[in-house]
Amino acid sequence: MRWGIIAVTVLWGSVGFAEERVADAQKEADPVQGKIEATAPRNDEYVPASPKPQYYKGNIHTHSLWSDGNDFPEMIAEWYRTHGYNFLALSDHNVLSEGTRWMKYTAIVKRGGKLALKKYQTRFGNEWVETRGRADTDDYAVRLKPLDEFRALVEERGKFIMIQGEEISDRVKKKPLHMNATNLLEVIPPSGGSTIREAMEANLRAVEDQARRTGREVLVHLNHPNFGYGITAEDLAFVVRERFFEVYNGHPSINHLGDNTHPAVERLWDIANTIRLSELNAAPLFGVATDDSHHYHGKPGSHTGRGWVQVRSRYLSPEHIIRGIKAGDFYASSGVKLKEVSYDVKEKLLTLQIDTKPGVTYTTQFIGTVEDYRTMPTGVNKEEPPSEQKYTSPAIGKVLDTATGATPQYRLTGSELYVRAVVTANQDHPDPSFKGQKQQAWTQPVGWRQRLE
Ligand SMILES: [Zn+2]
Ligand SMILES: [Zn+2]
Repeated sequence: MRWGIIAVTVLWGSVGFAEERVADAQKEADPVQGKIEATAPRNDEYVPASPKPQYYKGNIHTHSLWSDGNDFPEMIAEWYRTHGYNFLALSDHNVLSEGTRWMKYTAIVKRGGKLALKKYQTRFGNEWVETRGRADTDDYAVRLKPLDEFRALVEERGKFIMIQGEEISDRVKKKPLHMNATNLLEVIPPSGGSTIREAMEANLRAVEDQARRTGREVLVHLNHPNFGYGITAEDLAFVVRERFFEVYNGHPSINHLGDNTHPAVERLWDIANTIRLSELNAAPLFGVATDDSHHYHGKPGSHTGRGWVQVRSRYLSPEHIIRGIKAGDFYASSGVKLKEVSYDVKEKLLTLQIDTKPGVTYTTQFIGTVEDYRTMPTGVNKEEPPSEQKYTSPAIGKVLDTATGATPQYRLTGSELYVRAVVTANQDHPDPSFKGQKQQAWTQPVGWRQRLE
């Protein structure tokens, strides 16, 4: 709370100051009439009054030295800023980058960041980087800067912003439950619970309470459901207040493809959305892609640049980006870029426009579940199916159609509970997180809204 008050005070203080300055300048320029003349904006400063919506690229799952990542936050922000991203949320485990924190150099080296300090000093200079103790002793330490202190160094209006985040890292009966809160104001300790669903509900409620109390737009998404096989498709389905999850997470150990007894992450999505729409009369989950980056110095691990979201928004501000995500006006990507995704409700027509690269071919699968999927052949083991295997029917998340080319389209027949598109390029992922990974894009499910009305 303390930090919140300071932040608000400073903000209002600076607005007031700016207004006074403008008023003074006008008085000097035109002391007699005191007329307010519109100043012609400099091109590089111009913020249009009503900008057109455009796609903004961002990563909302990132770790730094503040928890278990191995680089300084400014360096991480600098990588994303210079690689075509427009927004970045640092989301360390159960901590915000705020307050005073010194980290022993030996601990940084141990984390695999042997070159981290050297690179940090080279990029930002010894006047910026704060160290204490003698370099060759165990006391040697580096100060980790809080977000509020370093954001001015990395942000660019209209081009790149930082959003505060936290990975609420909970655990229920040894199963990990990680949920990212994006644009929160105060740290949220994991709530815990006697079941995964209870803990999911409790963490969601904690975020929603804070959002209401602070008047902020905060996004919660459930992370890597197959990590430690902590979350089943039914958990994802039944906690209906959760609306977002990671359909792709770039960490190599999150079991993206599942195994013999656990469905792949993408299939969890279809099972959960089928249950929601056919049994619970609830809205489907939307899918985000993230890096979950921890390792920044070239060694194997979870890297930058593997997965991201593209959000359509008029303004590049945390609130507008989150509103775009909440409206479903975004897609997830691990390499394929889309110019447009549109769904014509009247025509029941889903259309994608792929931003094609020369020499690359694209295959788009339209995936969905039809309402009478239960009467279709199933592979269910009637003896005593484990709960997450109850939904093994191939009619769930079925490929309804496949298209090639730059403008794939699918017209819904009206019997689909939902339809989503996944575009796969014939190009390998440049830094794959699982074997055989191709570059892809995932759009959000459409055609379900009228069912809930
Ligand atoms: Zn996690
Ligand atoms: Zn993480």
